[in-house]
Amino acid sequence: MTSTDPPRAMPVHRIDLPRIVLVGKGVLSSINGICRELGYGKALIVTGKNTVKIAGERVQWILANDGISSDRSIVEDAQLETVGRVMEDAGRAKVDVLIGVGGGRSIDVAKLAAAKTGNAFISVPTVASHDGIASSLASVKGMERPYTVKAVSPVAVVMDSGIIAASPYRFTAAGCGDVISKATEVEDWKLAHSENGDYYGAYAASLALMSSQLIMESADKIRQNTSDTVRDLLEALISCSTSMSIAGSSRPCSGSAHLFSHALDIIVDKPALHGEQCGVGSIMMAKLHGLDWEKIRESLERIGAPTTAAALGIKKEKIIEALVMAQSVRPDRYTILSKIHLDRASAEALAVETGVI
Ligand SMILES: [Zn+2]
Repeated sequence: MTSTDPPRAMPVHRIDLPRIVLVGKGVLSSINGICRELGYGKALIVTGKNTVKIAGERVQWILANDGISSDRSIVEDAQLETVGRVMEDAGRAKVDVLIGVGGGRSIDVAKLAAAKTGNAFISVPTVASHDGIASSLASVKGMERPYTVKAVSPVAVVMDSGIIAASPYRFTAAGCGDVISKATEVEDWKLAHSENGDYYGAYAASLALMSSQLIMESADKIRQNTSDTVRDLLEALISCSTSMSIAGSSRPCSGSAHLFSHALDIIVDKPALHGEQCGVGSIMMAKLHGLDWEKIRESLERIGAPTTAAALGIKKEKIIEALVMAQSVRPDRYTILSKIHLDRASAEALAVETGVI
């Protein structure tokens, strides 16, 4: 470029990030202060049947004590109709903010309902089982796609490590599986860039990859499952969400291991947790990528996350079927499975060689 060339137009890149992220033991009690700071006077608490007792009622009580009124929507699934019902509740109560209090379902429903009604969204996870707790993407059933859709970035994320450390450890281990799988998902993204000409953002990729590496290194610490040790996972999940916000899509965090998990969700009656399936998928995809798949498996084992079909509670046959079908779930997302076409025999060999079946 010479000085006489016109400046090259930079593509517009919008990055939406949470304004406030609180991580630590007891931070739930700050929810009123956050609402005050952001100017919200009326809230809709979107929570589940169990999570209402764990944190939903407390959030309402803390808000009420500070003169902030709130209504409550109990959700039992993440179906599109449920999102519609929550939207009606939000409209009727004329709220300023939807606060999702719970696990995946409450958070996803609140997030999508907030996006559709133009309300703000605050995320208050009670488990740390996946990276959607701080991202702008929602996973809702009944939509045309079996994977996440763009919703809205939480304006605040309140992660009370005391509540999360007291949740069943299975969820925390699953969250680690979701984070560890970024090792292969980032590799898929690099491949999509070099072989398919996809946009690739080195910063977003590095952030997701670093989260995966840190969780693998912290495996033994995380297994202790205290409010202090769970922080590593919470910060990793925030980093993964941030990487997606920077990339403008789920690309740094969702590749072939996620496609494998989505395929299982479609073909298995009782799928395992998202992060559990992604972790197992990542072992196999790492082998296809020529990465150190044994290190991924060993890290998952140390954390206490599943590494086999039996531990997932899924039949061997379904693992093979999901491997063969995975890329077709999202053909436009180029991954190692776009390059290496697995048939039944090669899928079975991969699952056997990595000890998954
Ligand atoms: Zn995930």
